[in-house]
Amino acid sequence: MMEQYLALKREAEGSLLFYRMGDFFELFFDDAKVASDILDIALTARGEHGGEPVAMCGVPVHAAEGYLARLIKAGQRVAIAEQTETPDEAKARAKREGRPASKALVARDIVRFVTAGTLTEEALLEPRRANLLVALAEVRGTIGLAACDISTGAMVLEECAPELLLASLARLGASEVVVPEDWQYGPDDVVGHNRSAFSSNEGEQRLKSLHGVSTLDGFGEFSKAMLAAAGGLVAYLDHVGRGELPFLLPPTAREQSLTMAMDEATRTSLEILEAASGGRAGSLVATLDRCSTGAGSRLLSEDISAPLLNQSAIENRLALVQFWLERPIERANLRDCLKALPDFGRALGRIVAGRGSPRDLGQVRDGLGEAWRIYEWLSGEPDRPALLDLLLPKLTGHGALIDRLSRALVASPPTERSNGGFIAEGYDASLDELREMSGSARRAIAAMEARYRQETGISSLKIKHNGVLGYFIEVPNRHADALMAPDSGFTHRQTMKGAVRFNSLTLHEEASRVSEAGGRALAAEEAHFEELTALVSAAREAIAATAAALARIDVASGNAERASEGDWCKPTISDGGKLSISGGRHPVVEAALSKSGERFVANDCKLHDNDRLWLIGGPNMGGKSTFLRQNALIALMAQAGSYVPASEAHIGLVDRLFSRVGASDNLAKGRSTFMVEMVETAAILSQATPKSFVILDEVGRGTSTYDGLALAWAVVEAVHSKIECRCLFATHYHELSRLAESCERLSLHHVRAREWKGDLVLLHELAEGPADRSYGLAVAKLAGVPGTVIKRAGQVLEKLEAARNETGGLAAGLGELPLFAAAEVVVTETSEEVLARKLRSADLDALSPRDALDLLYELKSSL
Ligand code: ADP
Repeated sequence: MMEQYLALKREAEGSLLFYRMGDFFELFFDDAKVASDILDIALTARGEHGGEPVAMCGVPVHAAEGYLARLIKAGQRVAIAEQTETPDEAKARAKREGRPASKALVARDIVRFVTAGTLTEEALLEPRRANLLVALAEVRGTIGLAACDISTGAMVLEECAPELLLASLARLGASEVVVPEDWQYGPDDVVGHNRSAFSSNEGEQRLKSLHGVSTLDGFGEFSKAMLAAAGGLVAYLDHVGRGELPFLLPPTAREQSLTMAMDEATRTSLEILEAASGGRAGSLVATLDRCSTGAGSRLLSEDISAPLLNQSAIENRLALVQFWLERPIERANLRDCLKALPDFGRALGRIVAGRGSPRDLGQVRDGLGEAWRIYEWLSGEPDRPALLDLLLPKLTGHGALIDRLSRALVASPPTERSNGGFIAEGYDASLDELREMSGSARRAIAAMEARYRQETGISSLKIKHNGVLGYFIEVPNRHADALMAPDSGFTHRQTMKGAVRFNSLTLHEEASRVSEAGGRALAAEEAHFEELTALVSAAREAIAATAAALARIDVASGNAERASEGDWCKPTISDGGKLSISGGRHPVVEAALSKSGERFVANDCKLHDNDRLWLIGGPNMGGKSTFLRQNALIALMAQAGSYVPASEAHIGLVDRLFSRVGASDNLAKGRSTFMVEMVETAAILSQATPKSFVILDEVGRGTSTYDGLALAWAVVEAVHSKIECRCLFATHYHELSRLAESCERLSLHHVRAREWKGDLVLLHELAEGPADRSYGLAVAKLAGVPGTVIKRAGQVLEKLEAARNETGGLAAGLGELPLFAAAEVVVTETSEEVLARKLRSADLDALSPRDALDLLYELKSSL
């Protein structure tokens, strides 16, 4: 057995091996340690290998899904080794091969790999999230990406430049990324697979044979890099499924240039699919999502991950939202219909992958039936928008299949098919007959019990059934003798502790009828199942299209629901340089505030060609980053085809969105906050175009005051004069306001605050002009810094401000700064001169004991 185990383990290539033994999957050696740790189950030992006890743990087969889910979540991959013959078959084989039956070992084989990107089980999938597997390939400097969601069969091919790879992956949000073994482009967490599969030739061949076509032209135009990635993807799926390919729809090519580009940092900072705290709660999608189905939620996530750049496509989506918004009663009706809808896109995925159940067939039946009813209803509605007219035909055309499934299946078919009971009465006359036969035999057996009681006079006589004996007659010990008599008509079968079990000829006959009819009925149901599965599989593309069309309708009606809840407006889209939002709100912050009964203060953002860059000052906590983000989110939502939280919005298409707000420490990657900020700023400066929208918060905060101001200054200048894109820039450097003198398309704004009876009141209201002061101390007081410290800080501030007024402050001399000139600094001071200068400039009264000590150290070090 160990030999067999080790051979399978080698084949598992680093995956945990689930080794089937009877009713358990067992894990051994290090696998057992890893799994017992993650699953928190007992680690035991069994036998010895190489003189060491073998570590072991196991999970029951019937509960394996839950354990698998946890292992996959923890980043593991699992190979499932099943028994491929019964113990009896193994014994027979041993005999044939001339080995003693006692040495017979059941043959086992890895039947599939379970990995994060290749799940189809309902229990392992999150209903509201797509589950993507992505393969990458490189052809002459271009990266191809092949993404598929095998739970629904969707497959998309795209390509990008190497430097945009991480951004593309961030948009896709893959659960698993497969690369050729010698991959060198990142990211870190990938699975390597046979290099030779990732070629455009291989990819083209595999796609052609998969879809039975001689050319891919009908599906779209695909580059070599895309095809190479597709080759790797299909090869990997083939490997993982051990030759069984999952459900894959024909690929579609996605042009990156058709969607708004956002890099990973932007997605993270805007908390699109996941909040900063991790998880969906508090993210944009959670605040937007009013979809009635899991498929709708998945499509909405996709929409806001990849907002559109095509004005008419966006307007089409918006028109459908408006259609539902203007019909509240119909909308409620539709949402009720959709809520009752099963996730039949995923059920279809399981059926085509050969892992479907009778319940999945029932879901397809119910889903298609509901789609047809929605079609009947909506095709009678007047004033349908263009998008709806495009979607409607996809909801219908399944009449024959629905009819067949409805006749064939019971109302709610079970998930388990081996016990039968899912084929409806009246569908198959011979099956009905078999059922009637076993039913009448069962009734006969029930009648027999009463008769035997009467005949024997034993009122406690029972006819029972178990898996080992089948049907038998049971009487308590004290009555057994009567039945033991040779002419009693009963034969003894088993003596238990308090009872004795018998058989009788009549019982045997009836029982055989039950089991024979039952067995034949099961076989008949199984055959029907295969047939129905084949029918559904044959129509898979049309069924998937129906599911997709319903998801699109769901997203639109959900968006309408959300818009009516929040009194949102329909944005106007244009190709110009405007980004003009009146009464804008941050959807997530507003929702959070309203829970505690607070009101969100709406603000305007009026960027246009002649006023492209807003510099925003004001106190911390005043609402600067909220304002920045809300405008980025509104642009994003509008281009995704959603209404927006504003009273009016005009969005000139944004090709790339950049957000650098609240850079968090990325210590895990060994970079300081400042380093991260600079890397991200560099990305903006190299990638933004005049059609981009950039929001920047406190650039330069992570370094010394002088460096920070200098960098912030230079970045604003570059964004204003070189990139010429729309930008909101929040800063606490007053000095930057002087940029307004040299940058004519820049204007100054601030978030308002007021001091009232010594307390700070943050108004969260945007106003024109520079901030008058920073209110830092007032904010500190608001945050609970002790009064003594605030008072002391007040004294220090007074001195500093006095000094600033004398020297002109931090920005003294900046007015004469020639653009891009380098100043040469010559140091001529001796160390004594340095000492004297430092001592003279020290304000001893203003020094804390700690500062004084620091000063002493500094003086000593300049000697
Ligand atoms: P800043 O970036 O200026 O430090 P934030 O944008 O982080 O300030 O806002 C601080 C807090 O103020 C937010 O968490 C939110 O609760 C509140 N806030 C911000 N903007 C508004 C607004 N427009 N209306 C109401 N409350 C707001």
